Amino acid sequence: MTSRLPFQVLLYYKFVPIPDPEQFTAEHLTFCKELGLKGRILIASEGINGTVSGTIEQTEAYMRHMHSNPLFADMVFKIDEAEDHTFRKMFVRHKKELVTLRYEKELDPNKVSGKRLSPVEFHEMLQRDDVIILDGRSDYEFDLGHFRGAIRPNLATFKEFPEWIRNNMNEEYRDRPILTYCTGGIRCEKLTGVLINEGFPNVYQLDGGIVTYGKDPVVKGHLWDGKCYVFDERISVPINRTDEQVVVGKCYHCGGPAETYINCADDTCHRQHLVCEACDDIHHGYCSAECEEHITAG
Ligand SMILES: [Zn+2]
Ligand SMILES: [Zn+2]
Repeated sequence: MTSRLPFQVLLYYKFVPIPDPEQFTAEHLTFCKELGLKGRILIASEGINGTVSGTIEQTEAYMRHMHSNPLFADMVFKIDEAEDHTFRKMFVRHKKELVTLRYEKELDPNKVSGKRLSPVEFHEMLQRDDVIILDGRSDYEFDLGHFRGAIRPNLATFKEFPEWIRNNMNEEYRDRPILTYCTGGIRCEKLTGVLINEGFPNVYQLDGGIVTYGKDPVVKGHLWDGKCYVFDERISVPINRTDEQVVVGKCYHCGGPAETYINCADDTCHRQHLVCEACDDIHHGYCSAECEEHITAG
């Protein structure tokens, strides 16, 4: 392969019962540090969810190691090339749930979950007239990019989804196919379970998430507008590789097209906002005049 970049970013999850997850967490942290990986891995009794960066050798060694464990023998890794590490530190944390939802009913994606669609199947379904397309992510992720025609749940965190569904999912949606998607697929495993529990039986999820859709050689990210928010130093990655590319992000200041997220330079604010190049120059990285004054007055 020509001009392969020296680093790789891995994104992966698997719902599988992990015996003694706290012990496993401690051992896994030691292993990842010894290997030289950086990133963020969550471990719960219900499984593992991680995103890590490292050199090609480090990441290949990690995948071999995981695949040699019977629990993770069939784990799917989504792989991006990168110039460098995309994280600064290595965290491995034990959590009660892989995606925080605190739903009152038990949700086991291995038992109840929406039908999984390949990128090609999802792309076909997207173009039907009767489908509801539901973005399974938070508002700031949607605002940078989303599937054409998708519903934007205005949620700051994923755990608000069950309540949002009860209040916002129309009765007439009950008989219609509902397509859900998220970055790497893990949130839809739970989101579709909630939808089924709440009386929406006809639910589908994009297998492997948006990042897999963007790599598919047939669909090439078609019908995705904007960029995809990611939870590492890259902030966003391109998805649509066809000639139908649209910027959907809007500058917080002027409303013009923008695809760069920054945090307000005021240490007491840090509001994440989209900014265009011109406004970044004018506002010096602050979200408001108050925030800029705040620092100069201090
Ligand atoms: Zn602007
Ligand atoms: Zn601010």
